[in-house]
Amino acid sequence: MLLNVSVLKDHPGGSIPFEVVLDLHELAFGGCCPATEPVTAVGEVRNTAGVYVLSGTVRTTLHGPCDRCARDVDKPVEFPLHAILAPELSNDDGEEDPWLFLLEDGCADLDDIVTTTFVLSMDSKFLCRDDCKGLCCRCGKDLNDGPCGCEPEADPRLAVLQQLLKK
Ligand SMILES: [Zn+2]
Ligand SMILES: [Zn+2]
Repeated sequence: MLLNVSVLKDHPGGSIPFEVVLDLHELAFGGCCPATEPVTAVGEVRNTAGVYVLSGTVRTTLHGPCDRCARDVDKPVEFPLHAILAPELSNDDGEEDPWLFLLEDGCADLDDIVTTTFVLSMDSKFLCRDDCKGLCCRCGKDLNDGPCGCEPEADPRLAVLQQLLKK
């Protein structure tokens, strides 16, 4: 969706609200596509002393297998949306600001801004919870349900040392 912000030009302090719903189910993260539900972004663009500042919130519920324990997860997520909308890129700034977006004919490309925010906000791992204990690598038991009976894995370097000491 394109949002025309040119009406803000003569209104310092003025703002335009927006709401956009995106279908991002084809976005893959670590082998799965967890954004099976619509991704909603609500917010506003405000003319702050001549700078167009876009702010808001991106929300959806992600679905997919946990990267550690493989359990199916339904995970509501919420990311802050923040972007600066520039009429043109200034030549003198060498650093690329990922939150700087260009206006085209006075319009902000909300789909692009929301998709970029979503991708940059996703964790590299999709976990059922931050402290998921995962599966035992020997017996396969889900360690979130309690410890299994396996001996703790010996450090391979220690094993070598023990071999040497036996001799
Ligand atoms: Zn898990
Ligand atoms: Zn085990």
